Amino acid sequence: MSRAQQITVLGATGSIGLSTLDVIARHPERYQVFALTGHSRMAELQALCVRHCPRFAVVADEAAAVALQAELKETGLATEVLFGVQGLCEVAAHADVDAVMAAIVGAAGLAPTLAAVEAGKKVLLANKEALVMSGALFMQAVKRSGAVLLPIDSEHNAIFQCLPGDYARGLQPVGVRRILLTASGGPFREMPLEQLAQVTPAQACAHPNWSMGRKISVDSASMLNKGLELIEACWLFNATPAQVEVVVHPQSVIHSLVDYIDGSVLAQLGNPDMRTPIAHALAWPQRIESGVAPLDLFAIARLDFQAPDEQRFPCLRLAREAAQASGTAPAMLNAANEVAVAAFLEGRLRFTEIASMIEHVLQTEPAQAASSLEVVLAADTRARQLAEQWLSRR
Ligand code: NDP
Ligand code: MG
Repeated sequence: MSRAQQITVLGATGSIGLSTLDVIARHPERYQVFALTGHSRMAELQALCVRHCPRFAVVADEAAAVALQAELKETGLATEVLFGVQGLCEVAAHADVDAVMAAIVGAAGLAPTLAAVEAGKKVLLANKEALVMSGALFMQAVKRSGAVLLPIDSEHNAIFQCLPGDYARGLQPVGVRRILLTASGGPFREMPLEQLAQVTPAQACAHPNWSMGRKISVDSASMLNKGLELIEACWLFNATPAQVEVVVHPQSVIHSLVDYIDGSVLAQLGNPDMRTPIAHALAWPQRIESGVAPLDLFAIARLDFQAPDEQRFPCLRLAREAAQASGTAPAMLNAANEVAVAAFLEGRLRFTEIASMIEHVLQTEPAQAASSLEVVLAADTRARQLAEQWLSRR
């Protein structure tokens, strides 16, 4: 049998990182952990190193690296500890790596994810913000390097599974009329509108179906997550924003659908557990066991669908407008949202002000062509400045 594939897990201490390691540990003959990265949860990263014995670990800065290196040495591990963006890029692009799980949250994941793409790796993309920010440049880099890009976001993984097989070879999907992107509607789908201004971070992070990191949980509650996913779908599947329709489906059993011109609609179903898309992408085009329980349709009994309510969820409209404006608009939308979500989680911003802040940033700074990574990063910085100013002035 061939050697085990070497896997780098960017964002190993997070929700997706831990689910990835759970799947990997079920198949030690197929996968070996090459590198693990963490940012603030150092005790967790250390425990993961002891469990998975990676060749490299990457942390935020030099002091953290020195501390972790000393701890690991004491346990007799040969793991080498690197730090900073340079360390992240090194383990993402290393010649001995076969596949990279890109699961750092937010814009911080852009540089290492692009490094993996440019090195032509198999890239398992959870970090949707990286693609939203730099879509055209990101997809050009995939083409140039021959990287294999596989979506981890459950909806995009579902769409990928429902598209014709030859889509994977980089062809335009043939015969597709629409992509139907499902959304649970989050914890506030039915809350009276006048209560939304008072919701707490704990309420926003209590997703009814999925257990996720705090940032994406807030994004799901505001449905900005679905907006990012709309932009993500356009890049991944060569679609226009008008070809992607958001369908609220509260049970999160259908993970998305593809509507073909002959009237066929293909869907992918499964329990809401990220180990399914992770196992699918890790093994693609084969299939492996993921640890997810079989779907029990009799227990689910019914599936419901609704149109999204853009009055309740203005972030969805803002994301669609940014998708249509294109250029640097999605990067600014993402950056403004990252500032807004952090402020909301710190208790400095009301939930309903997330949309107001994003709208202010997008209206203040016109979109430009996203002609280079420098232009995209400058738009990200500018949007963060405008968002912080709005926050301190209001
Ligand atoms: P978590 O918050 O649980 O994990 C985030 C990971 O990123 C952690 O390992 C964290 O390290 C690391 N990290 C945070 N900031 C930085 C930084 N500045 N530099 C380097 N590393 C950093 O998030 P999730 O796992 O939920 O989400 C990860 C990505 O996957 C997001 O882009 C999200 O949108 C996407 N995704 C997640 C889904 C889910 O079910 N969770 C579903 C679909 C997509 P530490 O914890 O040590 O600070
Ligand atoms: Mg998703």
